[in-house]
Amino acid sequence: MNAEILCVGTELLHGDIVNTNAAFLSKELAKIGIDVHYQTVVGDNPKRMKEAYEIALNRADVIISTGGLGPTQDDITKEIVAEYFGLPMIYDEGSYQHLVEKYMSFHKEMPKNNLRQAYFPEGSMILTNDMGTANACIVEQTQDLSKKIVVLLPGPPFEMKPLMINQVVPHLHQYSKQTVVACKIIVTELGESLAEEMVLDMILHQTNPTIATYAGKGQVTFRITAKAETEQQGLELIEPVKQELLRRFGENATVIASDKGLEAVVAELLLKKNLTIATAESCTGGMLAAKLIDYPGISDVYREGFVTYTEESKESRLSVSAETLEKNGVVSEEVAKEMAKGVSEVAGTDIGVGITGLAGPNGGTEQTPIGTVYVAIYDRGEYFVKKMNRFASRNVIRERAVTIALDELRRILLQKA
Ligand code: ATP
Repeated sequence: MNAEILCVGTELLHGDIVNTNAAFLSKELAKIGIDVHYQTVVGDNPKRMKEAYEIALNRADVIISTGGLGPTQDDITKEIVAEYFGLPMIYDEGSYQHLVEKYMSFHKEMPKNNLRQAYFPEGSMILTNDMGTANACIVEQTQDLSKKIVVLLPGPPFEMKPLMINQVVPHLHQYSKQTVVACKIIVTELGESLAEEMVLDMILHQTNPTIATYAGKGQVTFRITAKAETEQQGLELIEPVKQELLRRFGENATVIASDKGLEAVVAELLLKKNLTIATAESCTGGMLAAKLIDYPGISDVYREGFVTYTEESKESRLSVSAETLEKNGVVSEEVAKEMAKGVSEVAGTDIGVGITGLAGPNGGTEQTPIGTVYVAIYDRGEYFVKKMNRFASRNVIRERAVTIALDELRRILLQKA
């Protein structure tokens, strides 16, 4: 089974809103083994909308569309699909009652326009939208001897997502009968080409599971994906490939849930070992703190984060000595170490992290070029320092620095009993 995602909305074409619905829907369909062959965006123009639905219905088995279920005259997705299949629009009492209840809960009178939201193409499976007024629907029809499934969902993501997860995915799963199981391995320290070369033979001979590689932010991610009838079978297919990747990459590799990042590994290790942490950042401006705080439950171990951007703030907040700054310069191993120790003492934590670097685009010397970053970790009397020295754009340098800090923390924490 293959699918096309069709998002309706002129504001999407103008770039006023980002098409997050398409990314979400693609991921959900991938989980049940439905391949998305096309993603289309069309504005609210009726003629172009009709064309877009016709094209999609001719080339995909499943069309998932978002937007255009609203009460106004330009919300016509249901009408277009009804017309395409020659179906009349039928009143649905349940959807009318749903509208009445929603408006009662808003303490507002229902405008007449909204009645349109109680009409659906004949034979539709109607999906109750708990988060909004517009119920969604699934239309299934046979065309040229093959089955076509059209799913019409509302545009607002907070309405669309629960409908997709709770109602559409279980419905489509009965046809695809496939489960997709994925796992992610993050590799640090090695560049993309070296990492890929080390497993090229495996990538070239992949069928099921497949191995996809993504590089960026100082790490290479290998995603292993298996299609199977059951989750257990999928896991069994993945296991030998995962073990072989781990064997080849050794301690540079971390296995991680497919929707998580390195920060989750670090957070879990800190929580498991009950070690508290504080961070002091300069060029990364709080990005490390933000990453760690992304992890729910981190408050048991994460105490404080400082953004000490100037030399004065490094001195006054973290007790970095004026002499160290004067002698070594602000972007130096010694300053990173004093930041790490200083923040761990101020916050009273087991571990302190200090990051100082030059993200550019201005400045830089021969000795300290743009892209130089020192990450220091202070762990109850012991220091670990990592130097990064690769030119890139300001944001890439900062993101890489955060990856290095997280990776160093991971390595140190793993070694602890
Ligand atoms: P409504 O009942 O609110 O009229 P609708 O089903 O007609 O819903 P739209 O009017 O197309 O949907 O979109 C409503 C809002 O939902 C948009 O202004 C936008 O904020 C959000 N939205 C719509 N489509 C997308 C999309 N593809 N990705 C992200 N957000 C979207």
